[in-house]
Amino acid sequence: MSRPDPALLSLNTATVRAQWKLDRIIAGCERYGIRGIAPWRDQVAELGLEETRRRIRGAGLTVTGLCRGGFVTAQGRPGLAAAIEENRRAIEEAAELSAQCLVLVVGGLPDGSRDIAGARALVEEGVAAILEDARQAGLPLAIEPLHPMYAADRACINTIAQANALCERLGDGIGIAVDVYHVWWDPELERGIAATPSRRLLGFHICDWLSPTADLLTDRGMMGDGVIDIRGIRGWMQAAGYRGFHEVEIFSANNWWKRDPDEVLRTCKARHAEVC
Ligand code: ZN
Repeated sequence: MSRPDPALLSLNTATVRAQWKLDRIIAGCERYGIRGIAPWRDQVAELGLEETRRRIRGAGLTVTGLCRGGFVTAQGRPGLAAAIEENRRAIEEAAELSAQCLVLVVGGLPDGSRDIAGARALVEEGVAAILEDARQAGLPLAIEPLHPMYAADRACINTIAQANALCERLGDGIGIAVDVYHVWWDPELERGIAATPSRRLLGFHICDWLSPTADLLTDRGMMGDGVIDIRGIRGWMQAAGYRGFHEVEIFSANNWWKRDPDEVLRTCKARHAEVC
């Protein structure tokens, strides 16, 4: 496996969101020759959609994804219509930013529910409802399977195979964002990626799994500091026809969010070359 093309490095803005606002993150990407960016909707709202678009375009960055849509099950069936509306706004924003996809964290169990099968059915119904809007906007939806530790509160789609089956039923305009943090443990991962049509591989998110992990949400590691064979998984993605960006996405309350953001970006670049 050869070293990755440095031009394929993208920065998910969560990686330095504790230190920098979006305008500084965009400038930082430009300064360090990072060619892709994946902003979060709250940051876009703060800077303003039009201003965000202008700055990203000015910096020559590709928007590898907008974070995020989904959460269609959060309030259960009574909240489905509102969730669909919110997702339609996210689709419009993503299209406005010429994002390569809108990342969907689909949602977990509604409060008080023990019905995970019902939650998964509701996800399918909700995503089907926004898919036509996404198609019309020319904006692919990317389901991100999340690690099963988040099945209750964030996403009840937890494996590539599950996401593929859903995409199969829903048809065109929807694919998968493969985040190594969420899927590295899956014994069916290689097979699952190989079985995914390349047009459906919409994103590749990288960071590392620290052992032990101190926090379920905000203790992700820098590439190379954990146990994930990132280069190996990249090889599987490449073999399946994926040619897109490698998006660094690190939530790290006690380490990387406390460091000088310039150091974080330099380290992302170096580790991308060394271990991805
Ligand atoms: Zn991700």
